[in-house]
Amino acid sequence: MSLIFRRALAYAVDSAPKSFEPKVVDVLVVGGGPAGLTLAAGLKNSPIARELKISLIEGFNLQPVKDFHNNPPDQFSNRVVSLTPQSIEYLQKIGSWNHIKEERVQPYDEIIVTEGISDARLNLDTPELATMVENLNLQSSLYQRIKELESQSEDNFGLDILDNTKVTIIEKDPINNWPIVHLSNGEKIKTRLLVGADGFNSPVRKFSGIESRGWFYNRFGVVGTLKLEYAPYRSIGWQRFLPTGPIALLPLPNDNATLVWSQTIENSELLTQIGDDLFVELVNAGFILEDIEMRYYYRKIKAGETKGLTDDIKWRVSIASKKYTEDELDEKFPVKVISVNEKSRARFPLRLSHADSYVSDRIALVGDAAHTTHPLAGQGLNMGQGDVQQLVKAIEIGLQRGLDIGNTLVLEPYWANRYPENHMLLGVVDKLHKLYSFTSEPMVQLRSFGLNALNQISFIKNFMVKTISGK
Ligand SMILES: Cc1cc2nc3c(=O)[nH]c(=O)nc-3n(C[C@H](O)[C@H](O)[C@H](O)COP(=O)(O)OP(=O)(O)OC[C@H]3O[C@@H](n4cnc5c(N)ncnc54)[C@H](O)[C@@H]3O)c2cc1C
Repeated sequence: MSLIFRRALAYAVDSAPKSFEPKVVDVLVVGGGPAGLTLAAGLKNSPIARELKISLIEGFNLQPVKDFHNNPPDQFSNRVVSLTPQSIEYLQKIGSWNHIKEERVQPYDEIIVTEGISDARLNLDTPELATMVENLNLQSSLYQRIKELESQSEDNFGLDILDNTKVTIIEKDPINNWPIVHLSNGEKIKTRLLVGADGFNSPVRKFSGIESRGWFYNRFGVVGTLKLEYAPYRSIGWQRFLPTGPIALLPLPNDNATLVWSQTIENSELLTQIGDDLFVELVNAGFILEDIEMRYYYRKIKAGETKGLTDDIKWRVSIASKKYTEDELDEKFPVKVISVNEKSRARFPLRLSHADSYVSDRIALVGDAAHTTHPLAGQGLNMGQGDVQQLVKAIEIGLQRGLDIGNTLVLEPYWANRYPENHMLLGVVDKLHKLYSFTSEPMVQLRSFGLNALNQISFIKNFMVKTISGK
């Protein structure tokens, strides 16, 4: 090689863009969903952890989160969760609840659970049992809190949020074993602690080698934003267990409500494809008609015989309603749905999954990356909030003791604390789903007896209320 060429090569290497060298951070959070943003806000709000250098990577565009405050006040998005008082308490503690759009949230103090095949009924009530919040409202409040903390910080804030950027490859630094994360924009980030807040398909969990076990329920959750005939005088959540899965109507402010209808794969497809009017009548029917009638309608829709079906369902619903007095109708059934917001219908696969561990060397998993559950008890996101709370605490303790926060010694108390509680909840919800899938007569009788009996036994009811509200 000639001298000139060698010099030219040495110059080229020296002046190569520094972006080939990974940026180095203390914590890299993958995922800007509710869990990831709560973690970033929780760490930056902590007097002990706020000095940490953090990056948050989100594959999707966070613009809808940033612009949420511009949303029309009476138009609700279709992803809405029931937040427990415990989750709200933590969001208040880290200062993000101040940024929530209060006029868009709806607390409720009672949930009425009924059976699709019998008249059994269970009322669970306590003041502010839970609060319905749009996912976007929650994410937006967390984002604004982060921005507020940034504006208050005197020196380098040390938190970068990169959206529209996907994690493509994760590898280990051969020298010190720190994870090196490759991004779709060509950058690389090396991190002391890598947190997977990246949902069910978690690339971080896959990289960690941590096994996740569970199954698909062969069910999809059909969601939609609904308008009611009038604003209910009390905020109540309604859930009716049908053999295909529970249908739940949960309150939003004024005459708005949100629907989560767990359905078979085939029916969920039908429910997202049929016209708005037919859909609305099927939702009303789901709360009052018998299983055999519902099955008849699904068969008709599947065969494409939908002509006159909306009126037929309306008629059957009115016949079924005549069995009750006005007062009984008010007490036993939700206010009638009159329309569904355009394009608000969507369906999501329902699964149970639980990772064997939430931590390994330099890695922690939070939220859906660690566990997913059937939405019938409204606990998935709440479990993720509990994870974040405990992970922040473990990191704070590690920092106070002068330890390396990527070390399993620091991280293990987090998962030891969260795993048993989450496992218990996942198990209870799974058994409930299975219990209500049976249609055989002895099972239905036993179940209805159980539901009615539970309604009379206050200490068991209190336990269930505690589980739902997290109080
Ligand atoms: C129909 C339905 C109703 C529900 N109702 C309730 C309820 O009432 N109460 C409740 O508590 N929970 C409920 N849940 C559960 C709740 O929605 C989830 O538990 C919660 O949204 C999970 O939040 P997360 O931040 O852990 O994950 P996600 O919301 O899945 O966020 C993960 C983020 O990671 C990002 N990501 C993934 N891969 C990459 C990558 N390679 N690079 C960069 N970014 C990546 C994704 O884009 C995403 O934004 C419900 C769920 C369903 C389906």
